[in-house]
Amino acid sequence: MVVGAARTADVRAAVRFAVDNGLPVGVQAAGHGCSAPAEGGVLITTGRMSGVVVDPRRRTVTVEAGVRFEQVIPAAAQHGLAPLGGSAPHVGVVGYVLGGGVGLLVRTYGYAADRVCSLEVVTADGSLLRVTPDTEPDLYWALLGGRDNFGIVTRLEMGLVPVERLYGGGLFFDARATPDLLSAYIRWTRDLPEEMNSSVALIPFPEDPEVPGVLRGRHVYHLRVAYTGNAREATRLLEPLRAMAGPPLIEALHDMPYTQSASIHDEPSVAVPFVREVALFREFDQDTIDTVLEHAGPQSPLPIVVEVRHLGGALATPPRHPNAVGHRDATYLLSVVVLLFGVTEDDTRRVFGKLFDALRPWSIGTSLNFMGHGRNAGGMRLRAAYTPADLERLAALKAAHDPSNLFRLNYNIPPAVGRE
Ligand SMILES: Cc1cc2nc3c(=O)[nH]c(=O)nc-3n(C[C@H](O)[C@H](O)[C@H](O)COP(=O)(O)OP(=O)(O)OC[C@H]3O[C@@H](n4cnc5c(N)ncnc54)[C@H](O)[C@@H]3O)c2cc1C
Repeated sequence: MVVGAARTADVRAAVRFAVDNGLPVGVQAAGHGCSAPAEGGVLITTGRMSGVVVDPRRRTVTVEAGVRFEQVIPAAAQHGLAPLGGSAPHVGVVGYVLGGGVGLLVRTYGYAADRVCSLEVVTADGSLLRVTPDTEPDLYWALLGGRDNFGIVTRLEMGLVPVERLYGGGLFFDARATPDLLSAYIRWTRDLPEEMNSSVALIPFPEDPEVPGVLRGRHVYHLRVAYTGNAREATRLLEPLRAMAGPPLIEALHDMPYTQSASIHDEPSVAVPFVREVALFREFDQDTIDTVLEHAGPQSPLPIVVEVRHLGGALATPPRHPNAVGHRDATYLLSVVVLLFGVTEDDTRRVFGKLFDALRPWSIGTSLNFMGHGRNAGGMRLRAAYTPADLERLAALKAAHDPSNLFRLNYNIPPAVGRE
């Protein structure tokens, strides 16, 4: 059963209905991060819960469960503020934040989850709880990182940052002409200030008339930049990388208002079927680079999009109020994606399996927001998102707040046995 909730009371009614009928509960907002199918359960969709209120004095935004970043960005910009959103503004705020939130400005400001002030949540008995770090420190800690294992968040207030403009955009390089660009990128990132946020993607562009001619049918490195300082300083910082990389195919770096930040990654806004895998790293040395390129580079039989995001910086700063989001020591995030057009999921999983087996010696874990769906949602993978101590605490809190595991249509943390 799918319940299209329009208000908090609908979420409560749906949870109570599920409890009375012995059905598990799942939640969907903007639909970018399905983890497990909701067959045989109650799926609460929150897209109709779309209220956004910016408080310029407190520098916060309060969003209802179905709000996307594209609604918050213009509302916050009216007050010279910005949310810590990610690469695509059509992503839902609540799911993104509960999974940590690796934003465009992650090195400058850290995880988005660290700025959550309060949450309203419908718990496993259908009651509505206001959760703050002071009133419910355990549940606050668990929701931010444990996502919908502890309830359905109906409203969330989080801090905004005083960012009006960025220097950023993209540079595109022919991968055949610059085969060492990934190595050059990693070397470049080793000595950058926290204001410089970037990633590089290796993209196999199809022979498609909608793709700009210069990119069509080519493997291309796309360098993405979001710098919170001025253009002159950004240009200076980029010089060493430009010197190593040579002339780009396309150059699109400029000063821009934060409201145009979606252009930096230019993610497609149409829904496409895909398989994704992710891993986090403290270091990304030449062996790691060679392994990635061997399995997922231009020689791969599959059209794999490889992305390496530079983390570190403010990500390592412990949050003012602790939460369960893990891996603050990560310096790089590797994500690989295959769009399932003319390619099967099984073939993709086979290639990804080989790649991630080979990367195991260097990887320090996974990131919830990029973990993908289906068998990726299994317990083995989920374990890699947390430290053993945090996972044990999450399981104990799950036993206290959801002993019957009502909220299990997700990356599930089963209740610790004997703790309820
Ligand atoms: C194109 C694209 C770009 C992305 N870029 C980034 C990025 O830059 N940084 C980043 O960190 N992530 C990124 N993501 C991942 C994204 O943040 C997560 O998948 C996020 O969970 C998506 O939320 P949603 O509402 O869009 O998706 P949905 O599929 O609707 O929700 C995903 C999950 O969020 C949880 N959730 C949603 N609503 C609630 C609620 N009310 N209460 C409790 N739990 C809830 C549930 O676990 C749900 O299964 C990206 C994903 C895509 C597809």
